[in-house]
Amino acid sequence: MAYIKVDNTKVNKEVAQKLIKICPFNAFEYDDEMLSINANCRICKMCVRKGPEGVCTLIEEERKKIDKTQYKGILVYIEQLNGKAHPVSFELIGKAKELAQVSKDPVFALVIGNQVEHLANEALTYGVDKVYLYDSPLYEHFNVERYTNVVEACFNKHKFSTILLGSTPQGRSFGPRMAARLRTGLTADCTKLEMDTNGDLLQIRPAFGGNIMAKIRTTNHRPQMATVRYKIFKKPEAVKPFGQLIKEDVKGINDHTFIEILEVLNKPKSKDISESEILICVGRAFKKQADLQLIEPLRKRLNADVACTRPLIENGWFDARYQVGLSGRTVKPKLIINIGISGAVHYIEGMKDAEMIITINNDPNNKLFNISHYSILGDLYEVLPRLNDLLEGENHV
Ligand SMILES: Cc1cc2nc3c(=O)[nH]c(=O)nc-3n(C[C@H](O)[C@H](O)[C@H](O)COP(=O)(O)OP(=O)(O)OC[C@H]3O[C@@H](n4cnc5c(N)ncnc54)[C@H](O)[C@@H]3O)c2cc1C
Repeated sequence: MAYIKVDNTKVNKEVAQKLIKICPFNAFEYDDEMLSINANCRICKMCVRKGPEGVCTLIEEERKKIDKTQYKGILVYIEQLNGKAHPVSFELIGKAKELAQVSKDPVFALVIGNQVEHLANEALTYGVDKVYLYDSPLYEHFNVERYTNVVEACFNKHKFSTILLGSTPQGRSFGPRMAARLRTGLTADCTKLEMDTNGDLLQIRPAFGGNIMAKIRTTNHRPQMATVRYKIFKKPEAVKPFGQLIKEDVKGINDHTFIEILEVLNKPKSKDISESEILICVGRAFKKQADLQLIEPLRKRLNADVACTRPLIENGWFDARYQVGLSGRTVKPKLIINIGISGAVHYIEGMKDAEMIITINNDPNNKLFNISHYSILGDLYEVLPRLNDLLEGENHV
């Protein structure tokens, strides 16, 4: 770790103003004749190089190498709401078991909640070696402060090498908190995970607008942490449970919280396209919203759900929860029909694992054709009416 140290014995108003002017990140604060550096500092060293001599110094602390052999096991956080586990947790158990074969790690699960022993038993049916259960009325509702205290206590006791959790709304708030508390790194929204034989987790995700697949390693910290979206990995087959259920004592765990839960309101139930079996996905090729009516006969015939690409969210035609792709939902339907979609990597990453892919597009070089089982090259404004006529004809037979 490196940081900039300020020698306040050499600071006066003039020096402070000079440094404030030099810093491109607005990281200096001068208050009560004291100059300090805030969290904006990027250690660009401009103040050291260009500031008055000796006022700012770069301090580099020697990095201690951690002993990775002290950390063992892949822990999967079992996310739950009202006593029901989020299925991403079981998908992660499946992946953890694959990774564990390489690193020769045991696989563990962590269940936190109130009266949730059934979830611990459910985790055992997916073949985990141990489930740590923290069951208390204190954990009735997800409270990121209390839950983080639990993870910290659990980690300090068992020293896991890896922690995986879902990239769900809960996981997205919990994961970074956990990582900060455990003073480690976290890669969010991984699309692939691999394990080195030395136990280093390769956390793979698209970066720089999807132009590269970044491979991230946590080389000198433990645990190594990643979040993964629902439907990226397969849910494993259930097995005859062989693991151990460990009921942890919650007494010594700090339960102080600044969060007061006043009321819990359940969101109105809406269709989740991640669960759809048949999807018609529409893209920017549709010139106006009314043209979407063209897909209606096909949608009705297939009893399909409708989803879309990002531009159609941006122009207000759809609610964001209908977007397929990296910044939308990952879908794995039995059938997906892409209509007028270019197949940007951001889109393809969200649907490439569909069992059957059909694409209608007027560009012979359309990227989706490469991954489609059936392709129709043509103008949607011609293809869809013809398809609708055929369906209409069938209806009259
Ligand atoms: C960080 C980041 C995250 C992103 N996340 C997502 C995401 O989650 N989901 C997503 O969808 N996008 C996402 N995007 C945007 C993405 O890069 C593309 O811009 C977007 O997917 C393009 O949408 P589209 O294919 O509908 O439109 P276009 O790229 O405009 O493609 C339209 C397609 O329709 C074809 N076409 C045109 N007219 C006709 C016609 N009459 N008949 C038949 N075919 C026709 C064209 O040949 C073309 O192939 C993201 C971008 C960034 C930078």
